[in-house]
Amino acid sequence: MAKITCRDYGFDCPYVIEGEVEHVIGEYQKHSNDEHGIEYSVEALTQVILRQQG
Ligand SMILES: [Zn+2]
Repeated sequence: MAKITCRDYGFDCPYVIEGEVEHVIGEYQKHSNDEHGIEYSVEALTQVILRQQG
């Protein structure tokens, strides 16, 4: 299981996505693109998740 919160990225945003890694990455990419106009790569988000789980 993985989790990304927008606050981890320094946004003043309550968005949290939790679940399977692929799901979290896909949903967070959509959210950050739609809401913040920022496109994160799959690689970058995978690194964040791995760092949290380490
Ligand atoms: Zn957000």
